[in-house]
Amino acid sequence: MPRPVRFNIFAKKADTKDNISLVDMPDGYTGEGFFATKLSDVVGLARKNSIWPLPFATSCCGIEFMATMASHYDFARFGAERLGFSPRQCDLLMVMGTIAKKMGPIVKQVYLQMAEPRWVMAVGACASSGGIFDSYSVLQGIDQVVPVDVYVPGCPPRPEGILDGFLRIQDLVGQESLRRRNSEQYKTLLQSYGIQ
Ligand code: SF4
Repeated sequence: MPRPVRFNIFAKKADTKDNISLVDMPDGYTGEGFFATKLSDVVGLARKNSIWPLPFATSCCGIEFMATMASHYDFARFGAERLGFSPRQCDLLMVMGTIAKKMGPIVKQVYLQMAEPRWVMAVGACASSGGIFDSYSVLQGIDQVVPVDVYVPGCPPRPEGILDGFLRIQDLVGQESLRRRNSEQYKTLLQSYGIQ
């Protein structure tokens, strides 16, 4: 019986002749020979379909992410083919696994080395809340050291869950105003983490 997911795990053969799947174009005005829309919508469209994730994997959730990258779930379908291990080239920090308190400053340092605009996804119970490790040594959620955009529940989350979290990130990226990163609200958020 097919599993109840909305992702294309039973892929049809691509019809590259005249039925190529394209992303939806943004709202705008169209006529003969022209199409006009907002700059922020075009930038959002490009950004959301070319995200470069930085996988920060410390334990079992990282293994689940490997399955998500492999051919069956094929993370690359969403424009995130290239994982980066250089923070300056990446725009999505994916934290997967148990983060010890000693590791907290390292997560923050990696986040600081990423250029704006940057987004953060906490994958799994450990990254989101410490998970089952309610102990003196484990950080009770990475949002204690960096702001998080999307939390993915589960121990570990299934690959479908990770993909769903990524789609939420894509929604945020596509809809984000170009001015958000200069807003007082965003600066206040960063200041609450001691980030200038
Ligand atoms: S949430 Fe569960 S599977 Fe993921 S790192 Fe923690 S213990 Fe492992």
